[in-house]
Amino acid sequence: MSWKSMDDLALAGKTVLTRVDINVPMEGDVVTDTTRIDKICPTVADIIARGGKVVLLAHFGRPKGKVVPEMSLKRVQPTLEAAMGRKVVFVERPSRPLIDGLPFDSVILVENTRFSAMEEANDPAMARFLASLGDVFCNDAFSAAHRAHASTEGIAHLLPSFAGRLMEEELRALESALGNPQRPVVAVVGGAKVSTKLELLGNLVTKVDHLVIGGGMANTFLVAQGIEVGKSLAERDMAPLALQIMAKAKAAGCTLHLPVDVVVAAAFQAGADNSIVAPNACPPDQMILDAGPATVAALTAVFESCKTLIWNGPLGAFEIAPFDAATTAAARVAAALTKAHKLVSVAGGGDTVFALNHAGVASDFTFISTAGGAFLEWMEGKVLPGVAAL
Ligand code: AMP
Repeated sequence: MSWKSMDDLALAGKTVLTRVDINVPMEGDVVTDTTRIDKICPTVADIIARGGKVVLLAHFGRPKGKVVPEMSLKRVQPTLEAAMGRKVVFVERPSRPLIDGLPFDSVILVENTRFSAMEEANDPAMARFLASLGDVFCNDAFSAAHRAHASTEGIAHLLPSFAGRLMEEELRALESALGNPQRPVVAVVGGAKVSTKLELLGNLVTKVDHLVIGGGMANTFLVAQGIEVGKSLAERDMAPLALQIMAKAKAAGCTLHLPVDVVVAAAFQAGADNSIVAPNACPPDQMILDAGPATVAALTAVFESCKTLIWNGPLGAFEIAPFDAATTAAARVAAALTKAHKLVSVAGGGDTVFALNHAGVASDFTFISTAGGAFLEWMEGKVLPGVAAL
């Protein structure tokens, strides 16, 4: 797939509507992970260096078309200013004259695009309104490129458009890792969103040599095999689909890896009393919250036998210790193999990035994608509307 970059257009004196992903996690007034903000800084700096005026368009949370004060982008303004080292002007109700009146060396941040239901509906009227605010459109939100929304897709048809630096970097890295990867390839798919990822798993089994299933999702596969998982997170109605995926993997020659031991506890609480048991030995009043050390050892052997690793989703409920242990240990193995030039490692998805940062190894991976859904859809080989429009 080809796309236009910043180098293909003249930006001097132009107002550049720049779609970014600054959907960062917050606790109170504090942004707890600034990765997404840090990653858009090069694009912003580059546009300004070329004489363009940056107007940031972004969503924040899921306000579902309504104004939700807690989801105002004003909350991230101080963090943006700190990361970019320049003034960020927050604009609740944007208009062209207002934007024209602001200086070129400041960054303009427009309120949450999803405060209007027209955004996700990709309403042409919203796309036209957004387009009227600037001269050129830069899409630097790879993570939102799988959705055809007014600020990602609709607008790209109305203005000269190009991919920002982060988008470019993402597209190049994913192409080299997934377009024609060095085999064997192992994919790790974990996390909680079982129903959304089961379909992806079905696709992946035809493309990778090893598929590691972790987190809450693995529980659904255990249930599908008639194993009782107590109070664990599991989508029981997905069991037939899980069985289909197992059959499909077998037919495609993809080896499926489920936990061989698990960490169970009565509650999802920091430092909760926990024990390591076989996957079929979760007590009825307890829940599986992580994979155990034998699983990590098995994964280490799989990683060592592979040349390419694609990772999305944690192996356990990693936000709370000690249920971060398997994710952290496996991430460190992957990072060490990558540093030793034995593995090309590509990881993506919001939670995955936090988990790898938590393990202190994110910078050792070959490439970290900030995208969740878009990363997964790319892994499925789907055309991303936001990229196609560029
Ligand atoms: P996802 O957004 O689908 O990648 O899911 C990430 C979330 O899955 C994280 O918040 C984890 O805490 C959660 N998770 C992973 N494993 C488990 C588990 N065994 N039980 C409950 N939650 C889990």
